[in-house]
Amino acid sequence: MVRQVKQKPMNWIEKLYIFEAFRGLYVTLKHALRGVFRYETLPTVPYPEQKPEINHAYRAKHRLMLRPDGSPRCVACQMCATACPAKCIYIEASTSADGRIEKSIQRFDIDHLVCVFCGLCVEACPVDAIRMDTRETSYVHRDRQSFITSMEELMDWDPKDYPEDDFQSQVAPGGKRNKEALDSWGLKVN
Ligand code: SF4
Ligand code: SF4
Repeated sequence: MVRQVKQKPMNWIEKLYIFEAFRGLYVTLKHALRGVFRYETLPTVPYPEQKPEINHAYRAKHRLMLRPDGSPRCVACQMCATACPAKCIYIEASTSADGRIEKSIQRFDIDHLVCVFCGLCVEACPVDAIRMDTRETSYVHRDRQSFITSMEELMDWDPKDYPEDDFQSQVAPGGKRNKEALDSWGLKVN
């Protein structure tokens, strides 16, 4: 829908321009002085000394979700690697020792220098095994190889950093619902 904005006609003071020019300078000066004397009231964050508050819904660095026994939820179906437009997920699968699961991962690397953070891998996963809710948005390395995040790194997260109502996070080892999940699912810790 097109919205028409009616322009207010200028009065005679505005038509002189000189007063409007001074009004513009006043606004500029007001903001400049606020940055010097009332810095804390600015709506900006002094990054990197202070990190901005990031929501879990923000597409950040990946993590691999865990079962209550600490094993990865991933069943090596390759759906994420197939959906990935940047082709930066590398998976190697092997036959799972758990008879209920066909395959498990031996290698799961993501090249975060190539990843475009589109989130398609998360959308494609049929078992909620990969998420991008770590809120980790800034990571710096000196060489390209270090940007390849290994399976072990992707599985290295703490349930305490995730909301208590996030069921999948809380059933992982160390989570508030881990014991309950181990008991109800009849799983044993290796
Ligand atoms: S976020 Fe996108 S580019 Fe990155 S690994 Fe997932 S699918 Fe690939
Ligand atoms: S993370 Fe999900 S989509 Fe990717 S291989 Fe594992 S189970 Fe399949």
